[in-house]
This record gives sequence, structure tokens and C-alpha cells, in this order.
Amino acid sequence: MYRFYINNIDDDYHFMELARVFLPDDGFETIAYSGKPVAHLLGTDSYFVNEKGSNDREEVKREFYELLSGITGMRPPWGTLTGVRPLKPALEICKESSVSDMERIMTERYLMSSRKASLLADIADYQLSHVTGIPWEKASMYIGIPFCPTRCAYCSFASNVAPAEEHGIYLENLLKEVSYAGRLAGENGTQLESIYIGGGTPTTLDSLQLEMLINRVSGAFGIDPYSLEFTVEAGRPDTITKEKLETLKRLGITRISINPQSMKDKTLKLIGRDHKADDIRKGFHIARETGFEVINADLIAGLPEEDADDFESSLREIIYLGAENITIHTLSVKRGSRLRESDPAYFRHNTETVSTMLDLSREMLSSAGYRPYYIYRQKHQIGALENVGWCLPGKHSIYNIRIMEDKQTVIGLGAGAVGKVYHPGEDRLERIANVSNYKIYSERFDEMISRKDEYYK
Ligand code: SF4
Repeated sequence: MYRFYINNIDDDYHFMELARVFLPDDGFETIAYSGKPVAHLLGTDSYFVNEKGSNDREEVKREFYELLSGITGMRPPWGTLTGVRPLKPALEICKESSVSDMERIMTERYLMSSRKASLLADIADYQLSHVTGIPWEKASMYIGIPFCPTRCAYCSFASNVAPAEEHGIYLENLLKEVSYAGRLAGENGTQLESIYIGGGTPTTLDSLQLEMLINRVSGAFGIDPYSLEFTVEAGRPDTITKEKLETLKRLGITRISINPQSMKDKTLKLIGRDHKADDIRKGFHIARETGFEVINADLIAGLPEEDADDFESSLREIIYLGAENITIHTLSVKRGSRLRESDPAYFRHNTETVSTMLDLSREMLSSAGYRPYYIYRQKHQIGALENVGWCLPGKHSIYNIRIMEDKQTVIGLGAGAVGKVYHPGEDRLERIANVSNYKIYSERFDEMISRKDEYYK
């Protein structure tokens, strides 16, 4: 067990997060300390950080990073940056400096690799030239459908395999919640900038149920779906039918997501999916015939037993299928997933292979005309790497950008939905979460409804 006494800090949270990138959770302790090193504390594997007593947290983190790097031999490419939104500090710097200055400052301040700094520069460049300023007086809306045909091995979401009757009961309550939230939004003059129906897999619902939901959203919030970005995830291809996609299209949905994760049949089986790569091809074909403007496709780098060649051939096919948005995720193995239960340290393996996959994705997508437009990181991702959304120019998702900016209210409806109220005066977000279990959502429905009042206190 390593012990790190860190001098002159208020709390050890950021240092603990940084140590986690290098060492297993039970392999170290970070201790906020004040004063001179005391010999008896510093036994074997104990270290004293910030002996000179600097008040500059970034400087102390750099010293700590170098110490951890010396102990483990690792140099994680995001340097001392541990937050989930690496673009935020980069854009802050861009307010005062050029994008190329930002790249240099990020490498010096956070010790990040030049490749990651240049990725941030590409994303900043895209956003600064293609995305309008933040209309903070508007809101985004997320609606959760917590059902899937089977549960993926890495899933830690509020997703359930449930019989059709339970979908009906859930939907009945969700429709009431939509009506209630829509009435409050009307009374308070809230306008929506974007809507995202995710989950789970929304297309687990049948065509009529999808129609009821979208009509209720449009009626309750007084919107014409064609007038704003409206996304419905059709993530699992085994839930896609021509009838469902035609319904979505007819009701004004312009953007859908079909999420292969891999185009290799063996991998799909290994991760617990009940469909083949051919079903993904068919799903794309139906979506194209139906005429959606934007199809997003997610791929995951680091799936069990995949090598860089497997990843490359999946990505080549997704580019060929013509997805306008491609989101490259690094596998995150969170608590609650089967993969985590079978191998708690899974996310510490294969870092080099996954780095190669991400490098490949950058080369292939850039040469196919895609641009990186948003980025985020999650806990327990392989190699503490990242997720990047790529788009053909002009085809970005404004919802994905807004939820990363943290400067707009997000109305969250349904089981597992986490909403946020933005208080512009204080530049602060207040979290308002529904329960994630869909049965408890129905049991405690009155409470879920009354939580909507908190958006307008
Ligand atoms: S499709 Fe997504 S939400 Fe559904 S089980 Fe797989 S990871 Fe979970």
C-alpha cells in the first residue's frame, strides 16, 4: 500500500482521482497534510508531496503525476487532467488565447500528451466555427426508456429486459410525467433547444407506443418536432423495424442512433447481444430508405477479445454504411456491469491496444471527412482514455454539445433520467434525478412528478 502525504491542500479528492489512474483503488492512500514531513510517517512506500508548500494546485498535481509516473513507469496521456470534460478548461483558455496557444498551455499546465492537446484543439476549432453561443435561457430535454432486448456485459445503465406489459405500465406513467413537465414549461415560458429520447433502447417500444410518446411530447411542450433537434436512439438493431422508423420519420424525428459497438459477430455474442452484424447492416438500410437526415453509430474500443484489426474493420464498415455521426467510446467497466463482476481490473488491461484503436479512429475518420466535435471521459475507462463524437461538417448533435457545456437546464424525464437546472447568476447547476429502477419509478410516481416542480422553484 502506497501512502501519499500531500502538503498544503484543502482536500485530497483530485489527488485521489489522479492516483487512481496509476494504481488500483486498494493500492494507495492519499492524505491531506499540513506541515513538515515527519520521519516516522514516511516508512516504506510512503511519500511526501509538495514539500515547498505551494498554493498552486496544478503545480502540486504535476509534482504528484511525476512521482506516480516514477513509481509505475506509466505516463497516462491526459496528464493531470482527471475531470470528465477536458474541453472545458481548453475553451476557457481559448477565450484569452488562440487555439494553438491553448494546445501549448494545456501540455504545460496539465502535462497532457501533444496528441491529446491537438485533439482538443481540433474539437475547439470545430465548436468555435460551427456551434452558436449557448442559449442558456432555453432547455434540453432527456427522456429515458429503460428497456433493452438483452443486457450487454458492460452495461451499467438503468436498462432492463422486461415483458411487454411492463413497457405499457411504464409508458402510461411516463406520458403523465411528460404532460406535467410540459404544463410547467408552458407556464414558465421554457423553450426547448433539443430533445433526446435514450435509455435503454427506446425502440424496444412498439410503433404505436413510440407515436403516443412523441405526440405527447409535441403536444405538452407545444413544439413542432421539425423545428428543433429531436433524437431517438434505436441503438439495438434487433429492435428496428421499417414500421417503427417510418413512424419516427413521419412524426418529425430527424436524428436516430444505431449503435453497433462492433461489426464482429463473435464479439456481439460475447458482450451479450442477441443479433448479428447483418442486423446492423439491415437497420442502416431501413434507416436510409426511410430518409433520416442524421444517423449516429457508436463503436467501442476495447471490447473483449478484440484487437486493433477487428476495431479497424468495424470502423471501416460503419464509415462505408454512411453514418453522419460516429462516436468512438473507450470501454468503461463500471460497477453494476457483468464485466466488472467477472474481472474488476478489466479496465487496467489492454491500454496500448486501445490507444492504438483510438489513434486509428482519428486517422480513418479524419481522412473520411469527419471532424471531432465533442469529447468526454468516464470513470473506469481503459487507460483513463476518452470518448469522442465525430461528425460530417454541420451534422453535429447540439444536445451532445450542450450537456457537456453544463450551461443549460436539462429536463430529465423517466426512470434513470438525471436533470439539471442551470442558475446563470451563479453559473451553477443543480441536479434533479429520478430514480433509476423502472418499477420504483412507478411505485414512487407522485414523488417523481413533484420533483418536476424543483425546475421552477
Ligand atoms: S444497449 Fe446500452 S442500455 Fe441496453 S443493455 Fe446494452 S449498454 Fe445497456
